[in-house]
Amino acid sequence: MMKVINKVLFAVLTFTFLSAAQAGDSVATLGDGKADCVSKAEMQTIAQHFSQFKEQANADYCYDGSHVSNLISSIMFMRKTTFSKMTPSKDELFTGRFASSWWDYFIGRIDTLEIVDNCPKGVVAYVYGFGLRTMFACPMALTDQFSSLDRSSVFMHEARHIDGYPHVTCSKGPRQGIQGACDNRISDGGSYAVTVETYAQLAKFAEGLHPALKAYSRNAAAIYADEAFETPARVARTENLLLLTSALDFHSYNVRTNSVEKLGKAYAAGHMVRRSQHMVMIPTDKNLKAQYIFARNEGEIPQSPSDLITEYNAQTPTEKANLVDLHIGAQWTARVYKNSIRFACDPKSPATTDLQIPNGQASSNLLYPNGYDRAAMVANLVTTTGEMYDISCAGKTASIKASQLKLDQRYTRMYKADGQVFGLTSTGNLYKLDVGRSAPVVTALDGSIIEIMPQQSFEFFETN
Ligand SMILES: [Zn+2]
Repeated sequence: MMKVINKVLFAVLTFTFLSAAQAGDSVATLGDGKADCVSKAEMQTIAQHFSQFKEQANADYCYDGSHVSNLISSIMFMRKTTFSKMTPSKDELFTGRFASSWWDYFIGRIDTLEIVDNCPKGVVAYVYGFGLRTMFACPMALTDQFSSLDRSSVFMHEARHIDGYPHVTCSKGPRQGIQGACDNRISDGGSYAVTVETYAQLAKFAEGLHPALKAYSRNAAAIYADEAFETPARVARTENLLLLTSALDFHSYNVRTNSVEKLGKAYAAGHMVRRSQHMVMIPTDKNLKAQYIFARNEGEIPQSPSDLITEYNAQTPTEKANLVDLHIGAQWTARVYKNSIRFACDPKSPATTDLQIPNGQASSNLLYPNGYDRAAMVANLVTTTGEMYDISCAGKTASIKASQLKLDQRYTRMYKADGQVFGLTSTGNLYKLDVGRSAPVVTALDGSIIEIMPQQSFEFFETN
């Protein structure tokens, strides 16, 4: 019986780095900024449908960081988040078809929430077929990588499965080969469409939601739109190059017009890494923690961007200083330390492989001359002496090999933005590369740039 049931297990996957995010102090995500307690009346309404919470409904319920507390705060997020007047996007990010009442939608399909101890790596929650109306939440959903906001999106995703929308195995793209990680197309309105729509709805229309959570939700909507469909969803966007200066100012460099627009402030100097659409700051000051960072003064969110960042933040400043760069792909990661790299090549396993940097060399930084690509299996490593290596998890096997890549000068960063390759030097100067040849990009920020990163903006979120 179990075997048969397993065939129709519908899960939402995240692959550690892919999806979402925070916990414990879930109150921060409630949107109204109020109350670390839920009123008795509210609890009784919840327990009317979810009888499992009857015990907690005899009095006001105060959040305590427990698993049950996280479930209740997620339910409260669904019940209490309000939205301004909603209009569909011109692209495929938001139709509004799941927008009316998340709570009513959810209780129309799910009667019991159950926390389970063991799930495959990357699985956040699941339901079974056969009319069972129980949603199972995996330990991952209750880690500091997930907020009540994320969990409410996951709850909506799972509820959609009850209507009979299974997933398929991705045949291409960042999630290629992962079972249950794709739907065919967003217009089918399956569970990943619900994921995109709920994040897009929060990002654009949620009232009183913290600006950083809105920015986070924008990115999350775009990530699923790009990665969870066999036919990628149509999303209207532009890509520019984000610059961070030594004065900790973010600027957007428009790669088409050569103009620079000042944005917000960074909380620290440091190295930023990409996790899909998200940016993660690893501060130079090793007493500070690494976290999501947003460029337009949106503020901070407490949730951890990745288990790798959770691990990093728990280290001593000396241990932290050993990490020089980090690659976060869709199915593999590489922690680049001074003298070695720790690869996690199998999205289904926590196993890692450590490889030494060849010839006793030391790592300097990663470069992305082909662009940061979540699906790519190779990134480029430069050593302190300027040697170039390809680091890879191709075939789920970790490797460091001498690279064919030739550059005409040393770079500390290299990314593609809108199809053009840009490099940053240790002197803070920006260059554009064309077939390996560097040409300076002259701006008023020359000599003061400490970090660059491609950044996409999405028409739906930019317009009113
Ligand atoms: Zn699913």
